[in-house]
Amino acid sequence: VTELFTFDEFLTHWAGERPDRLAMREEDRVFTYAELEDRTAKVATALLAAGLKKGDRIAWIGKNSDLYFTLFFGAARAGIVMAPIGWRLSPTEWAYIVNDTQAKMVFAGPGFDTLAEQLAGKLDHVPAIVSAAEARAMIDQTVRAPFEPSGTDEAVLQLYTSGTTGNPKGAVLSNRNLFALRKHSNELDLPYTKWEDDEAVLVAMPCAHIGGTGLGIMALGAGLPGIVLAEFNPEGVFDAVENHGVTRFFIVPAALHMLLLHPRCASVDFSRLKYILYGAAPIPLELLRQCIKMFGAQFIQAYGMTETTGTICMLPPEDHDPEGNARMRSAGKPLPGVEIHILGPDGAQVATGEVGEIVTRSSNNMIGYWNLPDATAKTMTADGWIHTGDAGYLDADGYLFIHDRMKDMIISGGENIYPAEVESAIFGHPAVQEVAVFGIPDEKWGETVKAVCVPKPGMSVDEADIIAWARERIAPFKCPRSIDVIEALPRNASGKILRKDLRAPYWAGYERMVN
Ligand code: ATP
Ligand code: MG
Repeated sequence: VTELFTFDEFLTHWAGERPDRLAMREEDRVFTYAELEDRTAKVATALLAAGLKKGDRIAWIGKNSDLYFTLFFGAARAGIVMAPIGWRLSPTEWAYIVNDTQAKMVFAGPGFDTLAEQLAGKLDHVPAIVSAAEARAMIDQTVRAPFEPSGTDEAVLQLYTSGTTGNPKGAVLSNRNLFALRKHSNELDLPYTKWEDDEAVLVAMPCAHIGGTGLGIMALGAGLPGIVLAEFNPEGVFDAVENHGVTRFFIVPAALHMLLLHPRCASVDFSRLKYILYGAAPIPLELLRQCIKMFGAQFIQAYGMTETTGTICMLPPEDHDPEGNARMRSAGKPLPGVEIHILGPDGAQVATGEVGEIVTRSSNNMIGYWNLPDATAKTMTADGWIHTGDAGYLDADGYLFIHDRMKDMIISGGENIYPAEVESAIFGHPAVQEVAVFGIPDEKWGETVKAVCVPKPGMSVDEADIIAWARERIAPFKCPRSIDVIEALPRNASGKILRKDLRAPYWAGYERMVN
């Protein structure tokens, strides 16, 4: 098979090879590969006819939808760049991103019919705002015409980072970036990276993130059905697995936890499900153990970031032995074609086993941030290395262990403490539903460890008891000095804990040293 590298090539290829195969399903809307190819060609034709050119931006504000993927794939065929925007953000945040993209057209997803009013007065340019019904009519009414397809290294997608540490930044991604994971996985040629012809893939995470959009791209790359869930919900996942033959999905740890807590979970027929991919945030070890016991599927951890078009490291199923396999704490090994180095404060590589900043280079790495030359230069070196901002180390077998974000590291009395490790230790406590750990200012130690806990329904959390529980599991200097009880953890749309929000009230009036 010749190597395919663009949306245009993949769509043309699969429409020729398996025209009648299901390409995409959302509820009762289904499209075969022949239909998807035709509809995306119509999107390309219509956008060009509306005056858009290669390199122009369009935006999507809505939930996951077959319409989103049809517009994105169609625009990508012609080199028009799609910027999906998280629907859970506020209208002010939507406007910030729409303005940042300078999108010529903004597509409203189904159910977002008041988008124009919500954006009114907030935009610094005048895009066409297109409703879902208008977009579907546009596709249906267009007569396809030939167009010049986008090149392998041309931009096709602009994905905003989750905004966990600051304002979201637009990572500009090319055809090559978006199909790099498929290429690297194929090179591994292992059962879990080989996608069999009878598989189907669930898109369960929001399309504004690589863990959502990326799964749709993987389905297309493999010529398999992509089953689209408008929004993550446990019932939707269970139904997709039981009724639509889903064999793989990717979800974040917080979503995995929601599946586990759902009353229906124990009775769902997971027999067709082969792999559960999880990642995007640290996972407490005890949660992972419980999941492995509950679901028959094999587990694969993924590590990556928006700037690396998602996954660059994978922890394979065989390293998920719930009986105390130390590797279960690892994010796995770099995929073929991915380089990972660990740098010390002086910028030189550290010895095996030593903690430093994770940097990476591969064809996954973004073109750059949109309109942020300084941030791009700070994140990406001239020879193509991305500074992840994550702390971690590589062991002698080449496994990557992620500690946490450098910005979240707590320095207490000269010792480095990584919140994820402390959270993982506390998570297994019988009264704790959720926990987050961060540093608060301290006269004597610089910072001390603070934990906030969400109790399980009907239970109460006792400070001394939690601290004692932690002391049995981790070194005393890593244990929290105090515990607060809260109702829910602040999380962003990617399910990530917003430690900066938790920290803020404690740091009012102080300057926090950022590592
Ligand atoms: P922003 O860059 O705007 O602050 P963000 O970094 O959360 O937001 P993403 O690109 O969605 O935006 O997330 C990438 C980050 O997620 C990584 O840098 C890392 O900190 C974390 N992450 C991803 N995968 C894992 C994993 N398997 N284990 C631990 N952390 C992970
Ligand atoms: Mg980031």
